[in-house]
Amino acid sequence: MVIEVRELAKSYENVHALKGLSIDIAAGGIVGLLGPNGAGKTTFVEILEGLRPATSGSVRVLGLDPQTSPSELRRRLGVQLQQTEFPEALTVEETFRLFGSFYPRTLDTSQVLAAVDLTEKRKAAVVSLSGGQKQRLAIGLATLHDPELLILDEPTSGLDPIARRGIHEILRRLKAMGKTILVSSHYLDEIEALADRVVILRAGEIVADGTPLELLARAEGASTLWIEIDSAVEPENLVPGARFEGRDGALLRYRTKDSTTAIVGLGASLKSSNARLLDLRLKRPTLEDLYVQLIGESVTQNPREEAA
Ligand code: ADP
Repeated sequence: MVIEVRELAKSYENVHALKGLSIDIAAGGIVGLLGPNGAGKTTFVEILEGLRPATSGSVRVLGLDPQTSPSELRRRLGVQLQQTEFPEALTVEETFRLFGSFYPRTLDTSQVLAAVDLTEKRKAAVVSLSGGQKQRLAIGLATLHDPELLILDEPTSGLDPIARRGIHEILRRLKAMGKTILVSSHYLDEIEALADRVVILRAGEIVADGTPLELLARAEGASTLWIEIDSAVEPENLVPGARFEGRDGALLRYRTKDSTTAIVGLGASLKSSNARLLDLRLKRPTLEDLYVQLIGESVTQNPREEAA
């Protein structure tokens, strides 16, 4: 196990931030950590990183106790903190050299620059980088000493969709290199697409833990089905096992818990009414449906962006 946590509790005076949390994380793959503000994500990852002591329970990261073996852990763990500040006067390459000097052994800078798509920016001043490029720099610096485990705190926070995709690509590359990546995010769609395992925290406890597919199976949301047909057939009983909800322009909108049966049945009823299908769109339940079910609020928006 790369991470072994047993009955981990953390209290700040009268706030119980973590309430006896246990989890094992095996080597390799991307684990997504989700949860609303105040769920305990930062407390959890900072205990793993050795930045905060636990109140009780046991923690092993790469077989080490983060509190008693901090320097050995630092050599084998890569950490990207939220909104890392870099000396802005330095170039990208100089920043790599500076951070590299902290470690006894590092990867070749050009290799890391290529891995985070910053080769062309090596002579650029850090101050001139875009938000996405700065985040890629932060990830590059976190991987410079070739750590086995990476802990990334909201690496795509505040980035536009293209820049976020760039980060996703980098995380997939790191995963392909055999790294274990623990990544927290406010973007549910990104965790759904990226993570091999999703852990949802609420009020200091794990409320869901599984592969995205396992969690989707738990999502109670129904699928929405839109169809457009070429004739004025009565929409009410056209799709077996689905409830007609209304029209969106030319599209008829249905809700169903069993989209396969609905689509197969639609084929038969179109045939018998001699109608032709012009368009069909299906939206299945997402991780967000389960999340809202568990947390009771929607946080697709990054709260920090809202505050900004
Ligand atoms: P998240 O990262 O999921 O937003 P945090 O770990 O930051 O959650 O916070 C969990 C709870 O612990 C919150 O109620 C927060 O107010 C409290 N907390 C976090 N850090 C401290 C601290 N240094 N002192 C006191 N309370 C804290």
